Amino acid sequence: MLRLMNTLSGTLENFEPMDGTTVRMYTCGPTVYNYVHIGNLRTYIYEDVLRRHLLSKGWKLVHVMNITDIDDKIIKRSIELGVDLRSFTAPYTAAFFEDCATIRIQRPDIVTPATEHIPEMIAIVEKLLEGGYAYRESDSIYFRISRFPTYGRLSRLDKRELKIGARIDADEYEKEEPSDFVLWKAPKDEREPRWEAPFGAGRPGWHLECSAMAMKYLGATLDIHCGAVDNIFPHHDNEIAQSEAATHKPFVRFWLHGEHLLVEGEKMAKSKGNFFTLKDLIERGHDPLAIRYLLISIPYRKQLNFTFDSLAAAGAALDRIKDFFFRLGAAKLTPGSNPGLALLIAGAREQFEAGLDDDLNTAEALAAIFKLIRESNIALTDGLMREDDRAEILKWFELVEERLAILPPMEHRVRDDGEDGEINSLIERRNEARRNREFAMSDQIRQELLDRGIVIEDTREGTRWRRK
Ligand code: AMP
Ligand code: ZN
Repeated sequence: MLRLMNTLSGTLENFEPMDGTTVRMYTCGPTVYNYVHIGNLRTYIYEDVLRRHLLSKGWKLVHVMNITDIDDKIIKRSIELGVDLRSFTAPYTAAFFEDCATIRIQRPDIVTPATEHIPEMIAIVEKLLEGGYAYRESDSIYFRISRFPTYGRLSRLDKRELKIGARIDADEYEKEEPSDFVLWKAPKDEREPRWEAPFGAGRPGWHLECSAMAMKYLGATLDIHCGAVDNIFPHHDNEIAQSEAATHKPFVRFWLHGEHLLVEGEKMAKSKGNFFTLKDLIERGHDPLAIRYLLISIPYRKQLNFTFDSLAAAGAALDRIKDFFFRLGAAKLTPGSNPGLALLIAGAREQFEAGLDDDLNTAEALAAIFKLIRESNIALTDGLMREDDRAEILKWFELVEERLAILPPMEHRVRDDGEDGEINSLIERRNEARRNREFAMSDQIRQELLDRGIVIEDTREGTRWRRK
């Protein structure tokens, strides 16, 4: 049974899709005014692990993500640069998809920009105006929070702080400013983009887009809505208010919020300048898989402090997995199976699933992998592993790969001697040089292999190699 921590109730709850078959899931996407940083990616990666885990349960999934291609920051920058919204946001949207592919984030079923959903947003504003939940002030339309008695329940807002009658225009603001928020903004400057609407030309506030897009594709009630903790207030509280006031139905059953990636104790943020993009790190020679590994190594509801040491440790952990495959693939095994190992594999599988079922405890899932590696290495050393055990382990790792997507390409699992003839013959020449005690020659060949990205290791069973 999958249990998820629901921000709305503050408790772990058993999860099943409302209709028993299809999970309707919405995740807030990027604001495309800049490149995403690895803090943003931490959030998209936990959502990706969730997505993969839900699919493994045999449920169908409709996963929707918006691209915020209109908001205060985008308008400001595009006006400064003198380009239209589309030309300004398109490269950042493309870069986002590229980063997702590099770090193996599966594409949601529907990923779509806010500016293509203006009519849906206008329809919600009209409903809210009709119901008395919204009002006009200086040509803009605001949501009247005093009309929605449960306003702020997601963030457990202290109702005494409500600033009744006060209004806020900014897309982003703090919990100390719980005022009527803007649904539709009248242009203040002639260069601002605008759309015609029955209640006057303008453009949507940020919160409105997620309600409109989520309900268009998923219906009035979603199973899961994800984001990071900074989305809880005001963004998600506002989404609840405007959606439920429009439909009179519960908007979301499970709210999930990931904790932040920190740098020296502070949130990694574009505005603070303390961020790394994926490209920055790849250019410095870091492996995107090590970055993904690092970002899932701590469960999503815990803060994670980014350091280069922890990134190196993540790389080393991946190397341990690679080395294990290398050894497993190269081992000469006898046919049959060892019942003790079969039990170990079953135990690892169970620990892995139970970990992910426990509110996506990825640390526990990784622990299951390393436990199996440890035990299997012992079995290999003691000559207790058989061919069928190896096949079982490899099969399970394929499943692990489907779920976590952290494993390197496994070209070295079981080596076919016909492969990579050139490398094998270099290794053969080196071994001959060593037998003849021509150590300068053997070192030279080792270096030559290293320059080609091949690492060799001498073991009792012979010389093994792998790509760096
Ligand atoms: P933005 O493009 O600023 O709207 O952010 C995209 C997503 O990344 C949102 O869900 C944010 O809450 C999330 N996010 C922003 N900064 C961090 C961080 N340091 N760690 C984790 N998630 C973050
Ligand atoms: Zn959103």
